[in-house]
Amino acid sequence: MSTSIPLARGGAFLLHPAGSLPQFTPEELGADHREFARAARDFVEGEVLPRDAEIEKLDIPLTVDLLRKAGEIGLLAIEIPEAYEGLDLDKKSTLLVLEEVAKQSSFSTSFSAHTGIGTLPFVYFGSPEQKRKYLPKLATGEWLAAYALTESGSGSDAMGARTTAVLEGEEWVLNGSKMFITNSGFADVFVVFAKVDGRKFSAFIVERNDPGFSVGPEEHKLGIKGSSTCPLSLDNVRIPKDRLLGQVGKGPRVAFGILAIGRFKLGGACMGMAKRVLGYTLRYAAERSQFGRSLNSFGLIRQKLAEMAARIFVGESLNWRTVSYMDEAMGSVGWEEEDAAGRKMEAMEEFSLEASISKIWGSEALFFVADEAVQAFGGYGFSQEYPPEKIYRDCRINRIFEGTNEINRLIIGGGLVKRAASGALPLLPAFEAARRGSALPAFDGPLAAPMRRLEASKRQALLAIGQAQALLGAKLNDNQDALGLIADLASELFAAESGLVRAERMVLAGHRWKDLARDCAELYLHFAQGRIATASRALLAEVLEGEALEAGLQELASLDRAPETPPSRLRDRIATVLVDQGKYPIDLI
Ligand SMILES: Cc1cc2nc3c(=O)[nH]c(=O)nc-3n(C[C@H](O)[C@H](O)[C@H](O)COP(=O)(O)OP(=O)(O)OC[C@H]3O[C@@H](n4cnc5c(N)ncnc54)[C@H](O)[C@@H]3O)c2cc1C
Repeated sequence: MSTSIPLARGGAFLLHPAGSLPQFTPEELGADHREFARAARDFVEGEVLPRDAEIEKLDIPLTVDLLRKAGEIGLLAIEIPEAYEGLDLDKKSTLLVLEEVAKQSSFSTSFSAHTGIGTLPFVYFGSPEQKRKYLPKLATGEWLAAYALTESGSGSDAMGARTTAVLEGEEWVLNGSKMFITNSGFADVFVVFAKVDGRKFSAFIVERNDPGFSVGPEEHKLGIKGSSTCPLSLDNVRIPKDRLLGQVGKGPRVAFGILAIGRFKLGGACMGMAKRVLGYTLRYAAERSQFGRSLNSFGLIRQKLAEMAARIFVGESLNWRTVSYMDEAMGSVGWEEEDAAGRKMEAMEEFSLEASISKIWGSEALFFVADEAVQAFGGYGFSQEYPPEKIYRDCRINRIFEGTNEINRLIIGGGLVKRAASGALPLLPAFEAARRGSALPAFDGPLAAPMRRLEASKRQALLAIGQAQALLGAKLNDNQDALGLIADLASELFAAESGLVRAERMVLAGHRWKDLARDCAELYLHFAQGRIATASRALLAEVLEGEALEAGLQELASLDRAPETPPSRLRDRIATVLVDQGKYPIDLI
């Protein structure tokens, strides 16, 4: 493998041997991080979870009160610079807090909309005056925020927005409407996107009391029923000229940059929730008996428990890897430097691909976990009296908002194709080397055997993606089937590798849960191998036919590798630990 592949660049994991890139693992978290996360856990367990039923009835004063209490202990100020009464902590702190807050899905949605898409546009794009006016209030929760991009006619195609802004003297006049806006039932301030002169997409700050601005009725939703989601109407809303956020025509950077920052958080929140689901599923499986035995003694139930744990372990591993890349990239620019916000955003964009992986992988893993929980509870899983019914509904939204998973797959696939075409990611030279039969990397660590299997899968993916890139080039961008497959290949490789590398570190460190970690990583690798083999074959079939396809498929088949330990044994060992401990025992804090 060429040594000229840049280290820790977005997408570099596709070309580097497993474990050769920097990877932060949550076991490396220091005391400060853990302490902060414990404060968040105490708050969620002490204040939020006991009010679950009230929150779910859309008790808006309660949600506002809880957000303000979160503000009192600093949880709303994490990403706000110190100059504006924020804590200016790293993204790792955000991830830790979100893992805790996620345990109540509706509150988590309100919290994330305020601290993320609601507040960050001010942090990254606000003028000093705007920051001074809004950020200290947003840091405490005195004011709460919302982000209004979507319209009834434009969701994924956000640039198709029809809301307009016209400058009349010293005022902007906004007209239009927005749809599905989280926190709109109580937010004091809204970041609203509108087109100036019908074309220049721009961001504006609208306050709740601005004349002509009104909030419509609450949406009746499938899940997260305790979060507020309403349409907005802007009828000749007049706001002062200085409420333009950023520059005229630079709205796409505000809208998409802020969404991109949020994606790794959604992945983290999903893993926080998944742990809670596994916890109550384990308790139920211990308490419920059928045929004179606990559910947790049945192989097919133990299988579910183990698969849930494997996804949690791997999901955490990939989220912590992504967040450390973001911290490194964004932390390298100080807030005091010129154009700090712009440069931080640019730095973060390097890893937008990994952030999208966190979002789709986490949301789909949580959906798997929630679905298996319903199944493990049987008929009671279908009853509103038991917790799985709610999480099954609540978690469905994660695949839709913050960019649907389809749009995120296009971001991943399209991003890789673009990087390969520009040479930022030397995919084609690596593909050529693989075609000439370059040797697979050697490994000698405690997880050498599964690492070798992963490398064989990576080679399969490289052969398929490289072939597609070589034959279709830029035309790949018009082939969504191919882009989706490329995204799946990248996601599975990133996930499986992140899990294996973390498990190997835990083994080498003699971590208390090293055997569980290793089994989880290997079990997930087995699943990922299957998905990678299938997606690689499908991608080749997109671009080759006849004898060339046959030869390509044979080459891929020569890279199929059998597991060293049967997956059923891995599952059983994992389930034994889970049942003994009564929970997923690898606690980060
Ligand atoms: C509970 C909730 C809270 C929300 N909160 C907010 C908020 O706070 N602020 C805000 O601005 N918005 C918010 N949204 C809106 C959300 O971001 C959008 O619903 C989402 O972006 C999808 O847009 P859409 O609903 O118009 O679906 P569409 O864009 O119409 O998509 C429909 C389907 O087509 C697919 N699709 C669309 N375009 C393509 C394409 N080019 N290629 C392939 N497939 C495609 C989509 O993936 C989806 O499966 C929220 C939505 C909900 C339900």
